Amino acid sequence: MSAKLLKGKPVSDAMAEKLSAVAAESTPRLAIVRVGERPDDLSYERGVIKRCTALGVEASVFAFPADVPQAELIDGLRALGEDGRIHGILPFRPMPHQIDPAAVKAAICPEKDIDCVGPRGSASVFDRTLPGFLPCTAEAVLETLKYYEIPLAGARAVVLGRSAVVGRALALLLLDEHCTVTVCHSKTREIEKLASEADILICAMGRAKKVGAAYIKPGAAVIDVGINDDGNGGICGDVDFEAAADIAGAITPVPGGIGVVTNTILVRNVVRAYIEKMNRKNHH
Ligand code: NAP
Repeated sequence: MSAKLLKGKPVSDAMAEKLSAVAAESTPRLAIVRVGERPDDLSYERGVIKRCTALGVEASVFAFPADVPQAELIDGLRALGEDGRIHGILPFRPMPHQIDPAAVKAAICPEKDIDCVGPRGSASVFDRTLPGFLPCTAEAVLETLKYYEIPLAGARAVVLGRSAVVGRALALLLLDEHCTVTVCHSKTREIEKLASEADILICAMGRAKKVGAAYIKPGAAVIDVGINDDGNGGICGDVDFEAAADIAGAITPVPGGIGVVTNTILVRNVVRAYIEKMNRKNHH
């Protein structure tokens, strides 16, 4: 392997130092809203709670049965929005089919929307001067690129995937950093050719080990957002790590890369939501 390994832990540790100081003086609180018991939700939940606890944020889980009627869930979300002890709300997605995502977006309290579920977050992705929290994963990628001083201005960035919270959000964030951005998706033609022109290649398709040598320009920074079942009880990214590591200039591992940073960003957003609330109080 010749590529530099872009581990998530140092990025996360650098952010955590600043957070613990705030949390030591106060107790920001996160409400996790889970519907059903999907194994990936449960594993995400354990990771988030662990990270919150380590950084002095209290996390509580509000679990609903998989067949909860939409009205009941929406009432629950609204109640959390009004609860003065809660500073951030994290609804796990996707939710079961009886729940309309638009209803969840409309019900989440904008000031507590720490993972960009509702319109306030989406608007801030589009226009960074507006208030709102960016999607944690997209911000984690940006934070990692900056921490490792990957040159952004003028770089060619190719984003594989166009979901609202990952690929599409990242494309806009990278554009703000003066990258020249190409977004690819399942209908893109000649995807390998486009990808292999990238100085920065972001992989967020949710396709295990799909990104092989042909996708990578020698020396490129490869950021692997994918979290996929590796078929052996573990997880793997979208990138075929062994093949890519010999060609890329830098590469994030899975696990131990973007996922680690994402959880810390999430906690940082809860702390920020708490601070914003205190500031609003002091102004009134
Ligand atoms: P998603 O909503 O399923 O979106 C996947 C995107 O990839 C879609 O835009 C899809 O294209 C595109 N795509 C799928 N297969 C493709 C192919 N063969 N060629 C080209 N494009 C393809 O997934 P997501 O929520 O963005 O998540 C993406 C991955 O990131 C998943 O593995 C997820 O588990 C992971 N993730 C990681 C974190 C983290 O913290 N590290 C956080 C969130 C998600 P179409 O739009 O045309 O369908």
